[in-house]
Amino acid sequence: MNFEEAKRLIAGAPKIVGFTGAGISTESGIPDFRSPNGVWARNRMIEYGEFVSSREARIESWHQELTMWPQMRDAQPNPGHLAFAALERQGRLRAMITQNIDGMHQRAGSSSVIELHGTAVEAECLTCGERISMDEAVARVKAGDIAPECNACGGFLKSATISFGQAMPEKAMRAAVEASQDCDFFLAVGSSLVVYPAASLPEVAKRSGAVLIIINRTPTPLDEIADLIVSDDIGIALPELLGLGPAN
Ligand code: ZN
Repeated sequence: MNFEEAKRLIAGAPKIVGFTGAGISTESGIPDFRSPNGVWARNRMIEYGEFVSSREARIESWHQELTMWPQMRDAQPNPGHLAFAALERQGRLRAMITQNIDGMHQRAGSSSVIELHGTAVEAECLTCGERISMDEAVARVKAGDIAPECNACGGFLKSATISFGQAMPEKAMRAAVEASQDCDFFLAVGSSLVVYPAASLPEVAKRSGAVLIIINRTPTPLDEIADLIVSDDIGIALPELLGLGPAN
């Protein structure tokens, strides 16, 4: 299937699933975690077990949040994020699934986002689940509360992201699988499709009869089962594919 053909078919499709990875947000200036210049090339990755067992690790982790948060907070959604929000307004987005933790889809106007790796926009108490905004948590760290704890119960506060060693959010994963089984187009956008189980979703969609389109700068392990592969800028290719024009 070529681009024009895909564009024509997608124009009448009622059930489209969007699935996004870091690549869509690097176009907003948010660094990729895994790239050579990414977050983990510059910061030590603190796994979940270490976070809960070591105060030193919690201090280090919150210091990382302090330095990384302003860039995420100040980033703006780009035409890629906005295209998915427009698709939702048209009533044709079956689900918005993301591996990203930056809250960009919500800021672009998507109302319901399945976040497979949690969110960095909030901090969560590991004991009672109470959440506060990352703005508030980081302000506390800045003010000298270097490993902040929950005001309600004293539990450890942690960015509400899914760390390595932490279980995937079951409800989000189930919703993502259900949507993938029930769509006519699955758009995998800006994901290298190497992190499982998230990367299994395009396979689920394909097996269930969906057309699979991959938009990514670099090749992915699922290219061979894709119906169309696009390696252009997401902010240009995605609105074009969805018939939204370059202005959207
Ligand atoms: Zn608590």
